[in-house]
Amino acid sequence: MTNKQLEQLVIQSLEPLYGIEEARSLQRYLFRALTAFDGLSEWLLIRDKEAGKDLETDIRKALDELLTYKPIQYVTGKVWFCDFEFTVRPGVLIPRPETEELVYLIRNRCNNRRGLRILDIGTGSGAIAVSLAKLLKDADVEATDVSDEALSIAAVNAGKLGAGVGFRKEDILNPPDGECKPVYNLIVSNPPYVKRSEIAKMQSNVLDFEPSLALFVNDDQPLIYYDAIAAYARRMLLADGELWFEINECEGNSMIRLLESHSFSGIRIMKDFHGKDRFACAALVSS
Ligand code: GLN
Repeated sequence: MTNKQLEQLVIQSLEPLYGIEEARSLQRYLFRALTAFDGLSEWLLIRDKEAGKDLETDIRKALDELLTYKPIQYVTGKVWFCDFEFTVRPGVLIPRPETEELVYLIRNRCNNRRGLRILDIGTGSGAIAVSLAKLLKDADVEATDVSDEALSIAAVNAGKLGAGVGFRKEDILNPPDGECKPVYNLIVSNPPYVKRSEIAKMQSNVLDFEPSLALFVNDDQPLIYYDAIAAYARRMLLADGELWFEINECEGNSMIRLLESHSFSGIRIMKDFHGKDRFACAALVSS
């Protein structure tokens, strides 16, 4: 079987479930992840050549998993985030394009500042922390998570991408009350924010495969993580330090009130590329 025939096999197998557009994009993702060919022109040259046995076996195995709606990022174990290749497994959330926007907003904001100390709370795969460490060369980046599995995947990503990030296990809902000295210039977090009442709107590939710990909050306390992080940030941010969040699109106004209640100022809510309220940023002005 040639590479081209293998491509056709993938598209034909996936089309009934996913539709033709999605089937084509899954096929491209699969071949990008499973072959060493990054450049399209190089790939075009070998499209009519025989596909290797290993590639065919890997593709057929991946197809079986994709037919169960398993997200392609878990099937291949790879996701591209801010142009870096990250490893993901079902123990961590698949980093989303909106979160890339958050990283770029912070990068643009901090580009000219040297020696920043940054903390990412609830790092998951390490996508935010590792990308910031790569993009802001002099930054000293630390990251926490409550999940051992997330911390081990995040450490793999930092190692693979050559990013110096200090990871530690910490539950933001029960933060250590020991050290209290403000040390960070910037704290960032994309904590769980999907309300359980929103589950009905979600797709089964997310619900069946992604970790609920990283996604859901109870409807009676939708900002529980933001409240805990804001309180922590108040203690740990240096004067003029900034807090950056990814947020639930319905919570922009509540987020402003929450940040005001923790005495943050310069609060801004920003939209994502879908035009939805998705990011919040606030500064800590020393009193
Ligand atoms: N944006 C993610 C989703 O909609 C949720 C991320 C989060 O809860 N922090 O699936």
